[in-house]
Amino acid sequence: MAVLPIRKFGDDVLRVPTEIVSDIDAGVQKFIDDMIETMYAAPGIGLAANQVGVSKRIAVIDLSVGKRPDELHVCVNPEIIELEGQQNESEGCLSIPDFTETVVRPLRAKMRYLDRNGRQREMWGEGLMARAMCHETDHLNGGLFVDHLRGLKKDRILKKIQKLVKSGMW
Ligand SMILES: [Zn+2]
Repeated sequence: MAVLPIRKFGDDVLRVPTEIVSDIDAGVQKFIDDMIETMYAAPGIGLAANQVGVSKRIAVIDLSVGKRPDELHVCVNPEIIELEGQQNESEGCLSIPDFTETVVRPLRAKMRYLDRNGRQREMWGEGLMARAMCHETDHLNGGLFVDHLRGLKKDRILKKIQKLVKSGMW
């Protein structure tokens, strides 16, 4: 297994919708293991394939960050199929390090995906889990959490990031 470099805001690969995985072959299995190791090393609670430069529709989520094995979800070709309610909490992203901002998200989300054995699954998530599911599927569609911000909040965070990029510290 290997820890892969995480792409940051400004990298084009984060803005391209990822491709559906048609075959979960040995190469994909190895890549999934690398994604899990990269997420834990960061550390983070979720990672999308395009965050490590691979434009495939795969995400990993683990709210326990490796502490409880049953909380690791490998999601191939995930789609959000139902949303309920609303929550207003702080959110961050491994591709936008050291920035957090309040993002409005659904309180509950239902996701359909294939597990790493190719079995179709459906899962309801609530609270932070719903947030992670929406955040990672956004990534796979070429989105980032800052896209959900508006007005001054958005201007402020983008200005700070651009400053960092310019100074070579990004
Ligand atoms: Zn993210």
